[in-house]
Amino acid sequence: MSVMPNVDSSNDPNLDASSAAVAVHEKCLALASNLWWTWNSDVASIFRDLDPGRWRALDHNPIALLREFTAESLAERAAERVLFTRINHAFRRLKEYMATRHTWAANHGGVLGSRPVAYFSAEFGIHESLPIYSGGLGVLSGDHIKSASALGVPLVAVGLFYSQGYFHQRLDREGLQFEEYIDTNMDILPVQPAVDQNGDPITVNIETRKGDLLAKVWKMMVGRVPLYLLDCNVEGNSPEDRQLTSRLYGGDERTRIRQELVLGVGGVMALHKMGLRPGVYHLNEGHSAFAPLQAIYLRTQETGMGFEEMLRQVAAETVFTTHTPVPAGHDRFNDELVEEHLGPLREKLGLTSEQMMNLGRIDPGADEEPFCMTVVGLKLSRTANAVSQLHGHVSRRMWAHLWPWRVEEEIPIGHITNGVHTHTWLANQMKALYDRHFPTDWDEHIGEPDVWQDIYKVDPGELWETHNVMKTLLLGFVRRRLASQCRRRDEDEAEVARASRMFDPETLTIGFARRFATYKRSNLLFSDLDRLAELVNHPRRPVQIMFAGKAHPKDAPGKALIQLIASMRRDPRFAGRVAFLEDYDVNVCRHMVHGVDVWLNNPRRPHEASGTSGQKVVLNGALNLSILDGWWAEAFNGVNGFAIGNGSVHIDDDVLDQRDADSLYEVLEQQVVPIFYDRDIDNLPCRWIERMMNSIATLAWRFSSHRMVMDYTTKCYIPAAGGLSSDMPTR
Ligand SMILES: *Cc1c(COP(=O)(O)O)cnc(C)c1O
Repeated sequence: MSVMPNVDSSNDPNLDASSAAVAVHEKCLALASNLWWTWNSDVASIFRDLDPGRWRALDHNPIALLREFTAESLAERAAERVLFTRINHAFRRLKEYMATRHTWAANHGGVLGSRPVAYFSAEFGIHESLPIYSGGLGVLSGDHIKSASALGVPLVAVGLFYSQGYFHQRLDREGLQFEEYIDTNMDILPVQPAVDQNGDPITVNIETRKGDLLAKVWKMMVGRVPLYLLDCNVEGNSPEDRQLTSRLYGGDERTRIRQELVLGVGGVMALHKMGLRPGVYHLNEGHSAFAPLQAIYLRTQETGMGFEEMLRQVAAETVFTTHTPVPAGHDRFNDELVEEHLGPLREKLGLTSEQMMNLGRIDPGADEEPFCMTVVGLKLSRTANAVSQLHGHVSRRMWAHLWPWRVEEEIPIGHITNGVHTHTWLANQMKALYDRHFPTDWDEHIGEPDVWQDIYKVDPGELWETHNVMKTLLLGFVRRRLASQCRRRDEDEAEVARASRMFDPETLTIGFARRFATYKRSNLLFSDLDRLAELVNHPRRPVQIMFAGKAHPKDAPGKALIQLIASMRRDPRFAGRVAFLEDYDVNVCRHMVHGVDVWLNNPRRPHEASGTSGQKVVLNGALNLSILDGWWAEAFNGVNGFAIGNGSVHIDDDVLDQRDADSLYEVLEQQVVPIFYDRDIDNLPCRWIERMMNSIATLAWRFSSHRMVMDYTTKCYIPAAGGLSSDMPTR
């Protein structure tokens, strides 16, 4: 990989053509080497404009694209397309961005100073060209570090390098999901080996009862934030272990605990080898909860003090975020697996195997209780949080028996509601509209309410027009994808042609995309097919719906739901109006959230910890139609979207589902559809546009990851680093 050239030679008239070409090439490589480009659409559009067809074919990977050029052919193409100015400008902006000291954290980061926050997560969803995420948790981590970069919060991120990532989803003709795994070509990723203070590449060596486990470390830059990824595909590991980090959430429990050992223990070792001394550890979900154990061990070595004392120190510096409101969703391991993998570390810490197991048990001494990663996370941190207000209540109840002497309100788990990274999810067209109407420095105040109030100054016609441009682009994307799905299945030309004509730009368009877990009830809309058919086929006020989402490879009920929806294209009542898009990922999500009118979310309350996809549509002017669960329970104000049900629950799932389905149809029939199709003499849906504006003004700042990272910094990081000010409960 090329490093950033440090001379800006663009304006030097004495350079000959070939060194000018080299300079352009180097600048493009520098732009491709920092993931900063992924949220700067003007930079992404430079790559696209070099070769739109190849850009799409290469999954929007700029390094892969640049490899198809020589320095000379690149310069030629750039000249042809008049890209020099844009390349120079983008390159200068990146350099300025990397150098600037005027950040939010420079004023508000207090004690964080030179000892960074180490942010651990099992997945990072940064861009579709970097397949090291599966879904919501990963995208949240990606958005977190992008905002940390923007705000100047000193933070380093630690994760795993998955050489195959999560699977690619395909459906057969019957709609049955099958999985494809593709090896990532390292040469086209913006990674370099992480090195120690002598410049030597780092390998960590993790002792287990059955031999050592090795991992090398990759580094990539996400704006100002370095992301370190551990990779077990190294010489010295057994052939089986070389595959250990190849897939996300694959394999059995042993694979799982080994991956988590590499992430937590290996991650802390790697930081130490690089000479980094974190001031705060942030464990994003239980997968990395072994990390503090290794940190405690290092501390005992440095100070000569005992386990208990160093545990207190490390726990004071540790922040734990829980994401799972379903008890079965938490990793649990038996004593054999724990001893095999943590035995050597436990001995070095001077713990008995009983003491070790008890760290992961709610009830110490309950021999049959497995070791739970969330329990260790809670026991080894002094600050813990859930990811929405409602999830905070659920989590306090769920973990109350860890603090049997406290009443529920005093259970020390607070909440910081998730948010999304504005520039990652905001469409160009909408950004241009904000640029025209918002204060010029709106970009620097994304997480604050004031700038967003200017949406009310925008002409309703302009907002509606902008939305419709994005909607048309989405429909084009959907038709292309559906047609190519048909072709891949060798369906006849009539089918392909139908797919490429599908959907109508004037019709109310609903999007539904998420993991196909049963509690998310992707089939709720299909509870009463006659009632749905009436909605969809209304002569003057029709509705069309697009679905996307993967089911975990082992989730048969989830796959059955996909099949049900995919089969709707064969039902004449829904053909042309209901479609399933394969292979949901960051790219599909981005297209969908840019262009739909309505984003539907109907999980069984309170199973959705937060949800973030609905926050992405807010930025682009779509309206949420959602159960009052996760973030929406605290976001809905009566006029910034639509609510399904009133937040009540029922112990019997069938009763709950029936009630929620009734409410869903009713809200569609009596609110969503009438308001959307109620037009004035200019054909504008005025009441709808009012809701769009209200949604943007009240939600865009609050559910941004800038606001979220500012909250983490002031409420968790600064207190954990020994500073003052906290309204998070600590212990
Ligand atoms: C944003 C996002 C998610 C998370 O959205 P939910 O609302 O939690 O379902 C999942 N997958 C992808 C690809 C995303 O971009």
